Amino acid sequence: MPQKKKKTYPSWSMFPEHHASVSDELAKSGLDFQFNEDDDEDSCSQDYDTNIMGRFRCRRGNCKTQGWSSKRIAITIRRYQLTSYNVRVYHQRCKSCNGLSRPDLDVQSYVDRITYRLKKWNGMEVETPVYSRESKGPHEEDLCEGCKNGHCTQSDGRVTAFPDYW
Ligand SMILES: [Zn+2]
Ligand SMILES: [Zn+2]
Repeated sequence: MPQKKKKTYPSWSMFPEHHASVSDELAKSGLDFQFNEDDDEDSCSQDYDTNIMGRFRCRRGNCKTQGWSSKRIAITIRRYQLTSYNVRVYHQRCKSCNGLSRPDLDVQSYVDRITYRLKKWNGMEVETPVYSRESKGPHEEDLCEGCKNGHCTQSDGRVTAFPDYW
């Protein structure tokens, strides 16, 4: 199969660079997971949609937006076999120019979500962390690639009150 020539900016990406932080946190509970660089939906044994926080900057040089922060960046956590996982982080679109953007993650929220889920999947009792910060305004589904790909906990039909969905 010939590869498509046209480059399209992806709707999501993975952040293996944050695996070390996840790994350190898991080690405190005696768990050891590998990051699976292979983004494969079919071979995973478990998956879970949730959200994290982060900041976006528009990649388009001529766009005048200052960027935006989001407390509801959709992610999908997947487990492969027993001790391997990866995380898809969905991109968002710029409100001014509709360009796709990859976030800078709030690493703490990322690590909290991932380690919580992996511990749960290992049958451990985990306390749900509480974030005091409230989210302002409605979720803009048109700008969220998680919504478009059916993996956002904030989209219609998936009843939710932020900041749940642990
Ligand atoms: Zn823009
Ligand atoms: Zn969404």
